[in-house]
Amino acid sequence: AIPLVVAVSTSIAAKSGLLIRDRQAFEKARSLEAVIFDKTGTLTEGRFGVTDVVSLSGEDDNTNEKMDDKKILSLAASLEASSEHPIARGILESAREKGIETVQVEKFSSIPGKGIEGIIDGKKFLVVSPGYLEEKGISLNDGKIESENIESENIESENIESEKIEEIKEQGKTVVFLLEGERVLGALALADIIRKESREAISKLKGMGIKCLMLTGDNRYVASWVSRELELDDYFAEVLPHEKAAKVIEVQKQYVTGMVGDGVNDAPALAQADVGIAIGAGTDVAIETADIVLVKNDPRDVLYIIELSRKTYSKMY
Ligand code: ADP
Ligand code: MG
Repeated sequence: AIPLVVAVSTSIAAKSGLLIRDRQAFEKARSLEAVIFDKTGTLTEGRFGVTDVVSLSGEDDNTNEKMDDKKILSLAASLEASSEHPIARGILESAREKGIETVQVEKFSSIPGKGIEGIIDGKKFLVVSPGYLEEKGISLNDGKIESENIESENIESENIESEKIEEIKEQGKTVVFLLEGERVLGALALADIIRKESREAISKLKGMGIKCLMLTGDNRYVASWVSRELELDDYFAEVLPHEKAAKVIEVQKQYVTGMVGDGVNDAPALAQADVGIAIGAGTDVAIETADIVLVKNDPRDVLYIIELSRKTYSKMY
């Protein structure tokens, strides 16, 4: 039988939008020493908007004329139409706002934690992370030197564009690349917003002596920017979906560890944690995997869980 006090707490929790799916995990919540937060959709709202489009190598191999921003956005949006990633939704929404049409994509497939690919007009196109380019050894300009240069006679425009992209990354933006085969056609920068509740959640958890960490598949600049903004204790960036659970195990060697995520690429990490908490309107996977579901998408509810767990179980023993 469930002790009455636990039953009461579970129902109080439910009324405040906390679904306790695993009672043992709820009990463990009072001993949490570290909480790892997923970035996108958890500490941030996961609502991206496209802020910059950078055109890189050309549409046409011979003239190397650059593809215009609208075409880049249109191709990217066409591919992303089949993805449910927050980045995909951001690109689609930005294209829609600008009245940009999308085209038909065949054989769509996702590259988990890295991007997506598909066939348009018989040609393979991809939208991928900077990590994917590194992994495949793809450079921004495919080694081609620009024929035209308005800014300077000496500097190749490849450098100017690489610099522009570095600058954008340093602003804490997420950058993805549009490729045709191995050729990089353009870069899209996206910005997300840190949830206003994240700041309070982190500072209070830290005040309770709980380590606050972040795990993300996004680039290290974005990660370090969010980490600085929220004064996190530490972060792991550019972590692939299959590596996320391993990072949780690493932290568990030292601390009783909670993991908060939205289930996009982080379900195994939620399952691995001592207390797995789903947030962000949770994907079905997140809700099924997590021990506790935060219905209101409020990271401050992590504190509430810990407090409620402490109160509940201190009354019992
Ligand atoms: P996070 O850990 O921040 O939730 P993910 O693991 O979901 O991030 O994704 C990591 C990275 O993979 C993204 O920052 C992006 O570069 C790339 N990526 C994943 N899915 C897509 C997609 N549909 N389109 C473009 N890029 C993607
Ligand atoms: Mg995620």
